[in-house]
Amino acid sequence: MQLEQNRYQIQGVNVLDMAEEFGLPLYVYDADKIAEKIGQLQAAFRGVPLKIKYAAKALTNVSILKLMRSRGIDIEVVSTNEIRLALLAGFEPGQIMYTPSGVSFTEIQEALDLGVRLNVDSLPLLEWMGQQYGDRKPVGIRINPHISEGGNVKIQTGHIDSKFGISIAQRDQIRALVEQYSIPIIGLHIHTGSDFKNADAFLNGAEVLFELASDYPNLQFLDFGSGFKVAYREGDHSTDIVELGRKVTVAFQDFCHQYGRQLELWFEPGKFLVSESGVLLVNVNIVKENPARTFVAVDSGLNHLIRPMMYDAYHEIVNVSNPAGEPKTYSVVGYICETDTLGWDRSLNEVRPGDVLALKNAGAYGFSMSSNYNSRFRPAEVLVFDGKPYLIRRRETFDDLMRNQIEVDFEEEISVKNN
Ligand SMILES: *Cc1c(COP(=O)(O)O)cnc(C)c1O
Repeated sequence: MQLEQNRYQIQGVNVLDMAEEFGLPLYVYDADKIAEKIGQLQAAFRGVPLKIKYAAKALTNVSILKLMRSRGIDIEVVSTNEIRLALLAGFEPGQIMYTPSGVSFTEIQEALDLGVRLNVDSLPLLEWMGQQYGDRKPVGIRINPHISEGGNVKIQTGHIDSKFGISIAQRDQIRALVEQYSIPIIGLHIHTGSDFKNADAFLNGAEVLFELASDYPNLQFLDFGSGFKVAYREGDHSTDIVELGRKVTVAFQDFCHQYGRQLELWFEPGKFLVSESGVLLVNVNIVKENPARTFVAVDSGLNHLIRPMMYDAYHEIVNVSNPAGEPKTYSVVGYICETDTLGWDRSLNEVRPGDVLALKNAGAYGFSMSSNYNSRFRPAEVLVFDGKPYLIRRRETFDDLMRNQIEVDFEEEISVKNN
C-alpha cells in the first residue's frame, strides 16, 4: 500500500474506493507483492534446486492458493482440510507437503489416502507408519534440533521443550525404527519457529540436518521450514534474504558434495510471502478523549486480527482517509468486549469518526486466525490482481452465525414441570 498524491493505493487502486465498494472491515491483498516476495526468494537461491512450499495456514483463501499455484510454487499444509483446499486450488497431491503435529492416525490415514507427502512429527507416528506401510511409503522426518531462535516465545518451535518434531537426541531411536520397518526416508525437516533474525540461525539448524543426513542415504530433499522475519515497522530488522541465500547456498552445496548427490532445498514460507501483501481496513466508530489518552475505537478487534494480543505483534496503522491531517497520538482499540488494543500510543494523522484506518502487514495470520467472537461477522477479503480488485470472500451474514446452531425450545417443558 503506497501513499501517492495524498491517496493510499494498491496497484493504482485507491483503498478508499475499495472500502466504499466492498464495505468495512475489509482485508485487501496485493498479488504483486506476493509475486515480488516469491521472486526475491527464487533469486536468492538461484544456485540450488529450490522448492518453495507455501505454508497455507498463513492465509488460506482458495484464490490465494490458486495464485500461489499459478506462480509455480508448491504448498505446505497442516490439516486434512488444508489438503482439500490445496486440491481444490489445483495442486497435485505430490506438490502437497503435510506436516501435522499431534494429529490422530485416522487423520494421517486420510491424508495419505489423498496422496500427499508426509513429514513425520513423532516416534509413535514413525512406528505406526512402519507397521501400516513397511517400506511402501516414503516420508520425511521432522526433527527438533534444540535451537532457541525466533521472536515471541509463542512462535518458537525448535527448542528442547517444544512439542514439535522428533528430538535430535532421539536420533538412534529414529534410526532403529526406520531399520526395523525399512521405512524409506526421503527428507529431513526442521521448522524452528518464526522471526529468525539472521542467516546464522538458519545455518545452525542446517548443520543439524547435514549431520543427521549421514544416517539416511536415500534422501531427496532437506526442508528448512521457515521463520523468515519480515519488517513490521520503519527500521525494523528483517531477514536479509540475499545474505541468507548466499550463505545457505554455499553450505548446502558443500553438504551435497559430501553426501554424494544433489538434493533439493525446500523452504516453507508463510509470513514472508503474504504478510506485507495484506492490509486490514477498518472504520473509526468513536474518538474518545479520556484525560490520560485519546482512544480510537474501530469496527474490528481481536476477532479479526489477534496477533497484537496473542504475540504482542506490532502492526503499523495509518489513517488513509485523512493523510494530510495534523499528526496526534492515539491508542487504537477494537470493539470487542476484551482489552483488544491494536496499537498503543500511535502517531496518526488526525482521526475523526468515520475515518478509514489501515493496519499493515495483515496478510499473514490475520484472516486465517479470525473468529466470530462476540457474534461478529468476519471481514470480506479482496485480492488486487493486475490493477483490479477481486472479491475473494463475501462478508458473513447472520445466517452464517446460525448455520450449525440447533434451536431447542425448552419453554414448554419447563412450564409443564412447573405446573
Ligand atoms: C507455520 C509453519 C510454517 C510457516 O511459518 P511462517 O513463520 O509463517 O513462515 C512453515 N512450516 C511449518 C511446518 C509450519 O507449521
